[in-house]
Amino acid sequence: MEKKKYIIVGGGLAGLFAANALLSEANVDVTLVESDDRCGGLLRAFKSERGIKYDQGTHLASKTGVTEIDEILFGTKNFSTEWSRFPFLNAGNYFAGVWNTKTQVADIRHLPKPLYAQSVAAIMSRATPETSSFTNYVKSNFGLPVFEHLFLPVVHKLYGKDANLNDLKSDVGYFGLNRVVAFDTELTEKLKEISDFDDKIAFETVSDYATKSTTDTSFYYPKHPDGIQHWVGNLTERAVSNGLKLLLNRRTERLETTEGAVSSITLDDGTRLECDEVVWTIPIPLALKQAHIEYTSSFKPKLMTANLFHFMFDKPVLNTDNQYVWNWDAEFKTFRITLYDNFAEPLPQGYRVTMEILTGPGDDIEVNIESALSELKAMNLIASNHKVLDSSHQIIKNTFPEPTKQLSLSNQALLRVLNDSLSNIIVAGRHSAKVWSQSDVLQDIYQQLNLSTLKV
Ligand SMILES: Cc1cc2nc3c(=O)[nH]c(=O)nc-3n(C[C@H](O)[C@H](O)[C@H](O)COP(=O)(O)OP(=O)(O)OC[C@H]3O[C@@H](n4cnc5c(N)ncnc54)[C@H](O)[C@@H]3O)c2cc1C
Repeated sequence: MEKKKYIIVGGGLAGLFAANALLSEANVDVTLVESDDRCGGLLRAFKSERGIKYDQGTHLASKTGVTEIDEILFGTKNFSTEWSRFPFLNAGNYFAGVWNTKTQVADIRHLPKPLYAQSVAAIMSRATPETSSFTNYVKSNFGLPVFEHLFLPVVHKLYGKDANLNDLKSDVGYFGLNRVVAFDTELTEKLKEISDFDDKIAFETVSDYATKSTTDTSFYYPKHPDGIQHWVGNLTERAVSNGLKLLLNRRTERLETTEGAVSSITLDDGTRLECDEVVWTIPIPLALKQAHIEYTSSFKPKLMTANLFHFMFDKPVLNTDNQYVWNWDAEFKTFRITLYDNFAEPLPQGYRVTMEILTGPGDDIEVNIESALSELKAMNLIASNHKVLDSSHQIIKNTFPEPTKQLSLSNQALLRVLNDSLSNIIVAGRHSAKVWSQSDVLQDIYQQLNLSTLKV
């Protein structure tokens, strides 16, 4: 029986997962085309001029809870010797000028008393939330003070002062900011038994959440000095050793079609690859253009620039509890800080931190190493006698999209045109715009690949 020929376009986590998943089946021939000189996409290690490695993209990884997907992702060999396991993601947060190392969720008890009282009144009302937009959802669920003093500044921090408030979707997680801590453990537990309250009130601590959770809350981090890049490196090596044809530094240029299906793809070096199926993990308009399919779309998504500030200090930072901390305060541009020494193998050279600041397209100049460092000091994460041993400002354009309804509608329309025109192309990964977080990206691909149809 002739092998089914797959071409995967893009070697980020989505493409690498698809390659490994397909190669776990017999009778497939898989080629992956990646424009960069290595796979990994948004996930990789950043090496500073001094040769210190920091993570880019996500850091700690979690299993999806679907055994087949997790086995493909993490392999079955040497798992416990290669990965450190943490029973839950131990994240903290800074809100209203106060540190909370027990949860990443903002605690509205830190708001001034009258605002807290008004917020509690709104939270306790069991009115059906208004889901027409994010703004209406927050106002109806948490009241105006929480909207004005927490959610609005955070949305501005994440998606810019010109964020399209009336069009932001209400069902987006907003980096975990869809609930608030509002009460002590006892009252929280009672209220969370009622689904209306469970949707808006968070556990007082992340360990309370982990204890009550019915799913596995573990997180993992590679013990290898390459950090999270070791994961994508492993996925690449495993796929190649199982027969993947990996074409690096190559881009697709043209999709040739026959009877409503892609029959071959021509690359920028002139190579022509025949195929039965295509897994497309890069932007949808590129597939439409390269297949000469007509479409009209005037919508341009707003994609945020991620500014990563990587630092190494001569002594540990002043938080030795959390793996990550989030900053929900309007006064700070920082939204997340990774504290490597609280989860990674220690480095002899010093103590590492990565700060993430999002900026809108074109306004990168507003942040720099000095301003990032002064935010670390203002948050009391470092003292005035902390010495900087290494620092870099890494800029990654076109990362987080502003999650508007228009973005979803536009992508759904483009996807429909593509699917109506071509029967053998799967669009997966963050560029499908259906999913963003890793777990969702992976479950979506697994479903779409429909591996059971390949069983012989
Ligand atoms: C700063 C930052 C922090 C993040 N934090 C988190 C987090 O905490 N939790 C979480 O779940 N997710 C997080 N993410 C998102 C997560 O990294 C992504 O969801 C995931 O890595 C997306 O993988 P992907 O394969 O869909 O896309 P990408 O990683 O974008 O991969 C696409 C690949 O296609 C290649 N490519 C592009 N054009 C072409 C072409 N024409 N031909 C061939 N190849 C091409 C690219 O080089 C790339 O390798 C974060 C991302 C960033 C940037």
